[in-house]
This record gives sequence, C-alpha cells and structure tokens, in this order.
Amino acid sequence: MSDKIIIFDTTLRDGEQSPGCAMSLAQKKRMAKALAALGVDVIEAGFAAASPDDFKAVASIAQEVKGPTICALARCHDNDIREAGRALEGAEKKRIHVFIATSPLHREHKLKMSKAQVIERAVAGVRLARTFCDDVEFSCEDATRTEPDFLAQVVEAAIEAGATTINIPDTVGYTTPTEMFDCIRRLKTQVPNIDQAILSTHCHNDLGLAVANSLAAVEAGARQVECTLNGIGERAGNCALEEVVMAIKTRANHFGINTAIRTEQLLPSSRLLSAITGSVVPRNKAIIGDNAFAHASGIHQHGMLSHPETYEIMKPQSIGRVDTSLVLGKHSGRHALVDKITELGFDATAEDMDRIFADFKALADRKKHISDADIEALVVGQASTGPWQLAQMQVTSGTGDSIASAAVVLLGPDGSEYREAATGDGPVDAAFRAIERATGMEVHLEGLSVNSISEGIDAQGEAQVRVRFAGQAIHGRGISTDIVAASVSAFMDVINRISRQMAKAS
Ligand SMILES: [Zn+2]
Repeated sequence: MSDKIIIFDTTLRDGEQSPGCAMSLAQKKRMAKALAALGVDVIEAGFAAASPDDFKAVASIAQEVKGPTICALARCHDNDIREAGRALEGAEKKRIHVFIATSPLHREHKLKMSKAQVIERAVAGVRLARTFCDDVEFSCEDATRTEPDFLAQVVEAAIEAGATTINIPDTVGYTTPTEMFDCIRRLKTQVPNIDQAILSTHCHNDLGLAVANSLAAVEAGARQVECTLNGIGERAGNCALEEVVMAIKTRANHFGINTAIRTEQLLPSSRLLSAITGSVVPRNKAIIGDNAFAHASGIHQHGMLSHPETYEIMKPQSIGRVDTSLVLGKHSGRHALVDKITELGFDATAEDMDRIFADFKALADRKKHISDADIEALVVGQASTGPWQLAQMQVTSGTGDSIASAAVVLLGPDGSEYREAATGDGPVDAAFRAIERATGMEVHLEGLSVNSISEGIDAQGEAQVRVRFAGQAIHGRGISTDIVAASVSAFMDVINRISRQMAKAS
C-alpha cells in the first residue's frame, strides 16, 4: 500500500456551504490558488449543477488553477454529471465526484428507493461520469449508518462500474474512531475488487471526532482524506486539513505515512480563508489558533528555555509562523515590503502590491513600527470590495450623560452620496445605526469583538462583527489603529457581503 495520503480539499464546496462562509467568484479563485500553493492533491471546486454561479466557479478554477486535480461534485443524476463534465472541460487534471445516500434512513425517507435501485443508480452514475474522465470518485452518503453488508455491495458495484476512488463519509458526524477503523478494514477484506480503487474518508465534526475518525480510517488503509482549511463546513464543520496534516507529520513515527502538503503554507492559507470569509478561528484552535504555540505557565517557559522539545512537539516555523517582530517602518521601500510578504508565505500580484504599498505607507504614518501581524493584515485584511463605500465619518462620544452621535457619508452602488446621522449608546452603536439608515438595511447585530493584532500602544485592532440578516449568519472583519474605525469597517464588510448576495440573488 502506498505511504502517501491524498489530501482532498473541499473548502470551496463543503466549507463554502457553511453559515457565513459564502465566497464570491474572485474569492474562490484566490483561495483555489492558495490551495494549489499549499500542495493539496485534489480541489473540490463546487457542485456545478447547483447554480450558474457554482458552475462558473468550477469552470474558472478548472481553467486557471494548475497543479492539483480539479473535482466537481454531482448527484447520480444525468444532468448533474453532464454539468460537472462540462464545467471541468478546461482542467489539466479532472475528477467527477458522484454520490448517492446508502443508509436505510436516507433510502426510505429521502430517496424512497430500494437497495437494488440505489445500486443501479450508483452504477449508472459512475458509468456516465467515466465517459467524461478516467478519474471518478464515488461516495456512499451516510456510509457510517449503512448496513455493513450492503455498503460492501455498493462499493463493489461502483468499482466494477469504473470508480477509481471510493469515499466513505461520516455525513452526520456520528461514528467513532474504532467503528471507522472496522468499517474500512471490513471493506478491505470483504470487497473482492477493492484493490482497484483508493479508499477515502470524509468526516464531519459533530462530536468533535472528525480528525480522530479520519486518522483511524487512514490506519485501517484509507489513502485519501477529505478535509477543509480551518475545519469549516456544515454545522460543526469538517475534518480540519491543518490538524490531520500536522498529526501525520508530527507523528510520522506512529503513522509511517506522509502528505504532499507544504506545511509552511498552512498558516498563511488559513489566515487568507479567515480574511475572505470574515470568520476567524478561535485562539485555542489546534495548529493555527493564536495561542497554539504560546506558553503562559512559568514552568513551561523555563522548560522551553532549557530545551524547546520539553513542551513543544512542533516548530512554529513548520506551519509558517514566522516571528521576526518589528522590522519595517516609515522609510521602508516597496522592495523590502515585497520581501517581507514573501517571507510571510504570501503571494502578491503587482496590482495587489500597488494597493498594499499605499496602505502600508498610510499605516506607517500613524504607527512607528510595522510588525508581521500588521503586514499580514494589510495583505489579507481588505476583503471587502463594495458596492458600498464609507467616504466620511464623524463621531462624538463622552462620559456620563453625554450622548454619542455619528454622521456618515456613504457612496452607494449607484455612485451617489448617502448622508445620515444617528445617536446611540456609544460611538460604535451610533455609527452602525447611521450606516443602517443610509443603506436602508436593517441587520440584527449578534456580536462585536475587537482584538489587538499587533503589539504596543499604537497596535492595530481587528474588529469582528456577527449579524443575522434574513435568517442567515454573516461575518465581517475590519482592521484599523482606531477601534471605532475598525468596528465600522467590519460593519461595512457585513453590509457589502449582504449587498453582494442580494445582487447575486436578484
Ligand atoms: Zn460533508
């Protein structure tokens, strides 16, 4: 058996489906390029038949992103599969991923199909997909709640029909590591033609077991893991790419396998995704959280100073965490900035650089030392790109009985100016209300937090805003040395995400 684990990334498909993680076409392309640089083997770019936008996203990623295999998802329906095939036309390497649910619950209540009908549909789906490409993946949705003997029958039939990868998803995040191990083992021993396909797993994190279950599948012989960056995905999310990859790398002595991931790109890719979706990872998140490598206890710090390995199982540099603290300032030139950005693991195009360099100069006027965290914020932070723009803002605040007020001038999607003023419980509240009035959008604010992302009294603050609009959760992010400005920019990010979604829907 091969000792290479295929990393199948579904950030742009399963991840993008999760609340608050919707991405525009440009954002998907940017993310796909970062995933290619990270070294994932397969990018699941989307569900081509879901909508014209999804189709377009798959087609442009297939056209423009080279290196990984580009995959499109399809139900075992002729139209889905043809759309997937069509969307993948421009790909250098392509894969169609067909699926059908196999568990009794899904067969009876969702599909209303017998076991024989499910097998028939699976076989027809795989055969049709094979007319578009040689690389065909078949998934038994809700596999972990499927009768083991029936699962083996479906798998055998799918391989017979030409599937080259067989995926065993734990769709509802229900299984345990030992059960997953047994399930893969059983397929390895019971299915006569199993050697003609690669076994894969796709675990959800409802019980916090997605990574453990994926690793159990690997130990039982699976050679592909489906995962997402930051573990984003439906409900509690998917198996986190960075966690499964670093477990395999750090415990090479235990697993005896490897991946092709350039792990120094993990942190930059993770941060890019956070910036694009506006949803930031918790500080204590394994591998990529801000605290993942921080040692607060004195005993630990003493140990670390004597010998890092006393408390450190991974080097921060191995995931792309570079700590060179304060380096750039007002007099640094464009060249130094480009070098720094490259060192941090980012890739900036010339046109990005014009914008980043201008923002850098503006920041350097307000802040003496520009840290790595500041640079990173400049590169990935400006995720919001209209249609609403804040042209001017004036806020007043005070203590005691004084009333906070805000006046804003916004440039709207039609290019004209919208002026509004409002009072509120504080300057941020007043500004949000004024923006709501100006845009005519009423949102339900669920949360606002501001964190400092660099050090010192002139540190930059990162604000995160969480709102609900038309029943949907939307996240926004903003950065500034001024916390009111950071909060307002996060709120504008939210307003723009909603506007873009409304424009897309209409
Ligand atoms: Zn899933």
